[in-house]
Amino acid sequence: MQRYCILILALWVLLSAAQPSRNATSSSTFGGSATTTTPPNGGASIGFAFQTTTTTPGFSATTTTQPPPQTPQPTQAPVAFPASSPPAANGPLPAGANGPRLKLPPPMPSAWPGVDNAVLLSGAVLADPLVTDALAYVKSVVPESVLAIPPSTQIDPTGPATIYNSDAVANCYWPKGPCVRANATAYYSPDVYACPQANTWGITYDDGPLYINGTNDTPDLLNHLKQQNIKATFFCVGSNSIKWPDQVYEAYKEGHEIAVHTWTHHPMTSLTNEQVVAEIKYTEAIIYKSIGLVPALWRPPYGDIDDRIRAITWALGYRTAIWTTTPLRDTGDTAGGSSDAREQEILGNVTQQFFPAQPGFVSLQHDISNYTTNVAIKILDLIGQARSSTPPTIGVTPMPVGQCMNIQSYQGSQTPPSGFVPPTPSGLPSGTRNGNTTFSAPKISGAVGCGRVVVSILLVGVVVVVLVVMVVFM
Ligand SMILES: [Zn+2]
Repeated sequence: MQRYCILILALWVLLSAAQPSRNATSSSTFGGSATTTTPPNGGASIGFAFQTTTTTPGFSATTTTQPPPQTPQPTQAPVAFPASSPPAANGPLPAGANGPRLKLPPPMPSAWPGVDNAVLLSGAVLADPLVTDALAYVKSVVPESVLAIPPSTQIDPTGPATIYNSDAVANCYWPKGPCVRANATAYYSPDVYACPQANTWGITYDDGPLYINGTNDTPDLLNHLKQQNIKATFFCVGSNSIKWPDQVYEAYKEGHEIAVHTWTHHPMTSLTNEQVVAEIKYTEAIIYKSIGLVPALWRPPYGDIDDRIRAITWALGYRTAIWTTTPLRDTGDTAGGSSDAREQEILGNVTQQFFPAQPGFVSLQHDISNYTTNVAIKILDLIGQARSSTPPTIGVTPMPVGQCMNIQSYQGSQTPPSGFVPPTPSGLPSGTRNGNTTFSAPKISGAVGCGRVVVSILLVGVVVVVLVVMVVFM
């Protein structure tokens, strides 16, 4: 009996010793790569350095993580980001504006909105100081006449269609036209809708993050971007970011630019001023929790914007980034169904129209579903093939929108604050607002839970096998 006890004790020690490494590689469940390693933290130091071959704004290198697996590098080097600090994305406040920009970082809300995108932000969610303080600031810098432009009427509660209730031309309502503002006014900066330099491709993915099982989802897309050494802009939806904050962080850590794409993905012109502010600020807050930075770029869902929305988002510190429509650089991955034939059509169009040397442009793709992400991954594979052809059959260089525009990716600091702790795959760390209100993000279900269950089953299996061997042979 004593022998059994000693053996069981030894087994326990062995299993206990295995615990830390299991935690350290838990992100591999998300990253889809067995050697992805969680950056060291522990709250003492924010410094995280990453093995990237390009210099990307927003990164400070003070400690070094385990290098990622070496992947084939493209033959075409990405355009290096200028050494000098790029200017703020949103431009200066007009003369006479009421004081400095809204204080950053945002206060954390006492509760987060739900994750059902069909439900508009309302009630207590709108009464949080995160929203009320920001709305007061918006009213202090945006002309009353602009804030009085009436909201449009959304036809289908889950769709993009709206009836515009004001002068669509005078207010530059994007869906009619489309209309873009190429010049600044006293209360907004110009829309971003193309990259200014020839042969630069602002490559963007909307509506994520998305985690399915590591295949044809955001982690898979991140791996393929890494293979091609391409950095992109991710316009994140708040209600998805709170489900997978670690994927927002993974994208940032890989050198991608993180931007705002609202919380519920409603057409913004259909919302009240208060709701517009809430859509932006809650998404900003969850991104701040995820990466320790406040984005400088936002994209209206469906491109649905007018001067009222431009002015409100500009007052909140954001530059509006849409995509190129002349010629159209929306891949159409969310339109026309999800058949193999449609996929081939998209891939053919991208190869023929996006790849040749041409004026700079901003594309639209989505990591919203298994289908659209699969298309995005196949486009990356095609980029790789085109680059390695002799001679290369691609004349444009993909890069984040902020880089192609030579503007800052984040408002205020371009590096996370000292002491920032990245989200773990098991959910956001709990926190407090004003030192008294405790909140925590919903626990992440699915992937991480499954990973833990699998590990637990494996451990139990090992114990059972050892016990059986002991009983049989001893
Ligand atoms: Zn979208």
